[in-house]
Amino acid sequence: MSKPVMAIVGRPNVGKSTIFNRIVGDRVSIVEDMPGVTRDRIYSSAEWLNHEFNVIDTGGIEIGDEPLLVQMRQQAEISIDEADVIVFIVDGREGITAADEEVAKLLFRSNKPVVLGVNKIDNPERQELIYEFYSLGIGEPIAISGAHGLGLGDLLDAVVRHFPDRKTDEEDDDTIRFSLIGRPNVGKSSLVNSILGKERVIVSNIAGTTRDAIDTEFIKDGQKFVIIDTAGMRKKGKVYESTEKYSVLRALRAIERSDVVCVVLNAEEGIIEQDKKVAGYAHEAGKGVIIIVNKWDAIEKDDKTMKEFEQKVRDHFLYLNYAPIIFVSAKTKQRLHTLYPLIAQVAENHSLRIQTNVLNDVVMDAVAMNPTPTDNGKRLKINYVTQVAIKPPTIALFVNDPELLHFSYRRFLENKIRETFGFIGTPIRIVARKKNE
Ligand code: GDP
Ligand code: GDP
Repeated sequence: MSKPVMAIVGRPNVGKSTIFNRIVGDRVSIVEDMPGVTRDRIYSSAEWLNHEFNVIDTGGIEIGDEPLLVQMRQQAEISIDEADVIVFIVDGREGITAADEEVAKLLFRSNKPVVLGVNKIDNPERQELIYEFYSLGIGEPIAISGAHGLGLGDLLDAVVRHFPDRKTDEEDDDTIRFSLIGRPNVGKSSLVNSILGKERVIVSNIAGTTRDAIDTEFIKDGQKFVIIDTAGMRKKGKVYESTEKYSVLRALRAIERSDVVCVVLNAEEGIIEQDKKVAGYAHEAGKGVIIIVNKWDAIEKDDKTMKEFEQKVRDHFLYLNYAPIIFVSAKTKQRLHTLYPLIAQVAENHSLRIQTNVLNDVVMDAVAMNPTPTDNGKRLKINYVTQVAIKPPTIALFVNDPELLHFSYRRFLENKIRETFGFIGTPIRIVARKKNE
């Protein structure tokens, strides 16, 4: 299911990131807590009234040392490509600049809905500063103050009015959606070509909705799959496509729309920081995850090489301990045929439902073996266990006091649940709720 996307564009220092942070609020991120991984605050989910959507801060996508006008043009292009609604922010105190006019022209030509926010209108006396912005020709300026949180409600009201009607056709069928993500050059497009090469006869492209993403549908052994388009698979030769932040953005968009995410690594180059970031996003999104080590043909190996590489992957991606690893070559197609059954299995686990009585038996047996922890003499008591969601499987423990469920005991229970039910390739979430809630 694809959420609508709003993108924020505007010159440097007009207040884009201030506004972005206001709109997305304090979303805690697992990725942020992982050592060595800083969150790119350029893309996040958000909510307004009953609308859930995603927000892109195009200002966070650094586009090299290009002159301001070129950068602005590229930001505008990104927002036109990626968003359903564009929020154009200008600085009320500075008035209209040449760069503003440039952006306005591009946005106007795109025929995308644009909402114009005049920022830094911190008090009513400044209200009159907004009128000159009518001359940009892209509609009614809305007075806002990102710093003080003023006017953002009006801005978001205008934004959600432009969202397309929710598409439902992506939900609730038995199609498995998957994506290949990874830094540039790991072999994502080669893998897709090798995967699709054999299935050419039954491939069909599904045109994207408002974005020009191309998803590819095919049937393998009676199962319908859709490969979600990612950066690198639709090279259009735009400068920003090679920037890291843009590929992160594309990866995040693909992850969100997938059931199963294949994190592609390059056997030749090993694991670098950027791989960890990408893998972290896949984990955090709660999707099924498979780790593909590609270019296995290209390295010298003996009978230990695979085990060693596997250990390296495990050490680097501790949080992905549930993800199966496969070693393939897009070039020679070695072991590529094992990918479909694996994706299908992971997708099945990702939406697996365990019967309540069976789940209770397993958890109670585990508790009998390893008693629940105590804190200040108070012991955790688990009354009842039930699975409350799939994708990913989410298990609720009804307990006397949720605070008593410590990390280590949660992990112990997760391990026991995994020992019994497998859940290979999918994260599982265990939440503690107060009895009677
Ligand atoms: P960006 O470069 O467009 O992302 O802009 P920032 O969000 O980093 O903001 C640039 C500067 O403008 C910062 O010093 C902010 O504190 C300031 N700023 C942002 N919003 C407002 C506002 O509503 N009023 C005032 N007075 N300053 C603001
Ligand atoms: P992407 O940027 O992740 O889509 O990577 P590409 O698919 O464009 O591949 C990058 C480079 O790696 C190209 O030169 C490919 O020919 C090469 N490559 C991709 N897969 C393999 C592989 O399995 N083995 C070898 N030896 N080279 C590969």
